[in-house]
Amino acid sequence: MHEISREILFSRDKIQRRVKELASQISRDYAGRELIMIGVLRGAFIFMADLIREITIPCRVDFARLASYGAGSDSSGKVVMTKDIETSIKDKDILIVEDILDTGLTLQYFVDWLKERNPRSLKTCVFLDKRKRRKVSFEADYIGFTIEEGFVVGYGLDFNEQYRFSPDIYVINNN
Ligand code: IMP
Repeated sequence: MHEISREILFSRDKIQRRVKELASQISRDYAGRELIMIGVLRGAFIFMADLIREITIPCRVDFARLASYGAGSDSSGKVVMTKDIETSIKDKDILIVEDILDTGLTLQYFVDWLKERNPRSLKTCVFLDKRKRRKVSFEADYIGFTIEEGFVVGYGLDFNEQYRFSPDIYVINNN
């Protein structure tokens, strides 16, 4: 049976402080430019909403939906795009916003997909980087926190569509 641990991994306060730091860094790096932020649904919606409200440069938004997980916590290894972006990104500065980088398969697939459309620049921002399970050598440009192993929920991240609403991030226990 799966339960969330009682112990908070990242509290809402810690999350908000880190989001502000990331937003300042992004605002500095893109000063004088306009950014198109592309959120990967569904997990990134809360992080992206917080991030964009702390960013001080003009931003446009779009969303794609990519899925590599079926039900549960094991990756199927196959990435499927079920919703493409609707914005033209040619010659634009693009920042992909994702909740968590795990095997790297989802972001690798999406970056390759978007590169075909010739953006001026293309970077990635992930709230969590789970480095141990990487299957491709993918590195994000902006990272909220690095974690070891474990399946985490809250702050947009789900387990079987549950727990996304939690403002804090927890680890799922396998009991
Ligand atoms: P990747 O393709 O293995 O890098 O997986 C990225 C996607 O897997 C994320 O967008 C999440 O939807 C999901 N995922 C990976 N690890 C976790 C986790 O610990 N909790 C919730 N979702 C996860």
